[in-house]
Amino acid sequence: AKRRPLSLDEYFEGVRAGAIATLARAITLIESTNPQHAQQAEALLTRLMPHTGGAVRVGITGPPGAGKSTFIEALGLQLIAAGRRVAVLAIDPSSSLSGGSILGDKTRMPRLAAEPGAYIRPTAAAGTLGGTARRTRESLLLCEAAGYDVVLVETVGVGQSEALVSRMTDCVLALAMPGAGDDLQAIKRGLLEVVDIVAVNKADGALLPAAEVTAGQLRNALASGDAEHDALGARVLLCSALENRGVDAVWQAVEQHCAHAKQTGALHARRAEQLRHWLWERVDERLCEALHAHPAVRALRTEIESAVTEGRLSASEAAGRVLLALGLEDSGAK
Ligand code: GDP
Repeated sequence: AKRRPLSLDEYFEGVRAGAIATLARAITLIESTNPQHAQQAEALLTRLMPHTGGAVRVGITGPPGAGKSTFIEALGLQLIAAGRRVAVLAIDPSSSLSGGSILGDKTRMPRLAAEPGAYIRPTAAAGTLGGTARRTRESLLLCEAAGYDVVLVETVGVGQSEALVSRMTDCVLALAMPGAGDDLQAIKRGLLEVVDIVAVNKADGALLPAAEVTAGQLRNALASGDAEHDALGARVLLCSALENRGVDAVWQAVEQHCAHAKQTGALHARRAEQLRHWLWERVDERLCEALHAHPAVRALRTEIESAVTEGRLSASEAAGRVLLALGLEDSGAK
């Protein structure tokens, strides 16, 4: 049976009241590709904006098998026990290809999912990584408006996704595994840019010595830069999500990072930069959509496509003709 559509007021009131069913529907609305839904989603976001910004936003990244879901469940349960409300959003870079999400699945965190103070949501699989990121960012705002004071954004660490998650969070925590230090170059390149705290997970049992070696390697590798990066070197921690040891210390490091950034103004600057980036990303997206729908471009499409494929026109010249047709380039320019 089809559910009765909600009015803007109903969405607004429900989300503000922290009603999980309404929050879930609001996120579905945001994820919808239906242009009518897009309008309502935008209106809803606009109304909710004044009620956003209140959560600690943390990105949690790491390779498959690093223990992200085990860690998030352990951390989430601790936070809930401390009276916090925790939302987990997951960006799955592979989902747009496979059509199914492997992250954020409730069955991966059954105990956390059963908590009334927790909300777990995989990000929609549709569209590009950029489009997925936009929906995750907007979902994050909805969660804040619904009163969640911790939002964890989970992603599989595959280079691009760390950068993406850092553009919507206050702090990025990378989970590494024992032995990960062997692949330092790859880690270092990705990490130095965007990661704020590294936790070497699985520091337990027979894996403990290897975890200690890895932490040392990571500290050395990350401390070789300037003072700011040296501070990062000190923030390589050990934990065992499985045995629930060190998880609290990792969270303390996250809160310290955020508190310090708040004090220095770095947090404000980071969020402002994210909003600037977001603004122009949206402009680019909308512009691109408008361009492809424009009658002048549609009229040219077939002609320039065959000219280019038949080698009569270079791709650059063809692009110039598109801009010319739109009045964005004058004919005397060349
Ligand atoms: P994800 O793919 O990053 O979400 O990783 P999972 O949380 O699914 O964990 C992958 C595997 O590592 C599972 O078999 C977990 O039980 C195991 N694991 C997770 N955390 C720990 C840990 O702290 N210690 C040990 N020994 N195993 C862990």
